[in-house]
Amino acid sequence: MKPTGFIFHEDYVKHDTGTQVYSFPDGGTMNVGLEFENHHRVRYIKEMLEKSGLLQQMHSVIPEPARDEDLLRVHTERHLAHIRDTAAKGLRVFGPEAYGCPVSEEVARLSAGGAIKAVDIAMGEESGLTQAYALIRPPGHHASSDQAMGFCLYNNVAVAARYAQAKYGLSRVAIIDWDVHHGNGTQDIFYEDDSVLFISLHEAQNFPSDTGDVTETGAGKGEGYTVNVPLPSATGEAGYRHAFEQVVLPVLEEYRPELVLISAGQDPNGMDPLSRMMVMRPGFRYMARTLRELAERVCDGRVVVLQEGGYSLPYLPIATLGVIEGLMDCEVDFQDPHSIPERPLMEEAIQAVQKSRHALAPYWNHLHDTQTAHK
Ligand SMILES: [Zn+2]
Repeated sequence: MKPTGFIFHEDYVKHDTGTQVYSFPDGGTMNVGLEFENHHRVRYIKEMLEKSGLLQQMHSVIPEPARDEDLLRVHTERHLAHIRDTAAKGLRVFGPEAYGCPVSEEVARLSAGGAIKAVDIAMGEESGLTQAYALIRPPGHHASSDQAMGFCLYNNVAVAARYAQAKYGLSRVAIIDWDVHHGNGTQDIFYEDDSVLFISLHEAQNFPSDTGDVTETGAGKGEGYTVNVPLPSATGEAGYRHAFEQVVLPVLEEYRPELVLISAGQDPNGMDPLSRMMVMRPGFRYMARTLRELAERVCDGRVVVLQEGGYSLPYLPIATLGVIEGLMDCEVDFQDPHSIPERPLMEEAIQAVQKSRHALAPYWNHLHDTQTAHK
């Protein structure tokens, strides 16, 4: 099994996002249970890893809070003050669909700190390790430099990328975001930057509905370094494999990152309440394994996997088990009770991937149609 770091802090459960509320025009409201991004998510994932025996094989590390200087490589002073003040006042709303409680600022710092610790592990700070899974919350990929959004307060993966550049002098960092929602915050932060390649696979027009189109390819110095692969609803493992083979892998092989960061939201799973995709445990195992192997080919196996979304409490632990299996190169004896027949590769998915290839072809030799697609 591949030696792998595991980053978690008990305080991650303290970030309380409250309850889901339906509002009526007359001012009436109705509570319909816990918010999607609740503390049970990380608890259940951790328990799955424990019960399956994998956690005992991992190297557990407790993170420290991110410092101001770490956050300020990505966020504005104003944003830090806003998060701090919102928490201090005990307000619930930190930004559009981003909720929290009085300790949320501290927990968000600890979440970003988990991402930083994962970079240290990947860069060899713990001997014998080049990869780590950070089971962190709140997630980060919707947060921009100046705004909290969609359950995200600080952008963990962006903080990790900037930290890797500042501390280790890296000039090419790749972020692959397979969360079913578009990583609009991450895209925004690196849109004009060629030192961080951002690749997002997501359900087309899910959330946010107005970003993540194939035509968003970066600007200025960053032109061509933003890669969007919006996929049609009901895409399963076959569609994601197709996207990997036709776009993700050829671009990564050409870019040759020095570090691979994964925004791992396991919400393209077939049971997630916030998406309509059909990726099950073997699909997540495939994506993690494939990116780990890519990292072994191009950057001495340096891979950081950061928890983003995933909201089906019964399935998120199983999907994440698949990710860890792919990362560690193993398969544990656990029968998925929700297993569904594999979806065929849909024509709509083939067309969607082709559109993305076309949009990016001007910037990447490996995407020119005269060349054989990567297999
Ligand atoms: Zn998501």
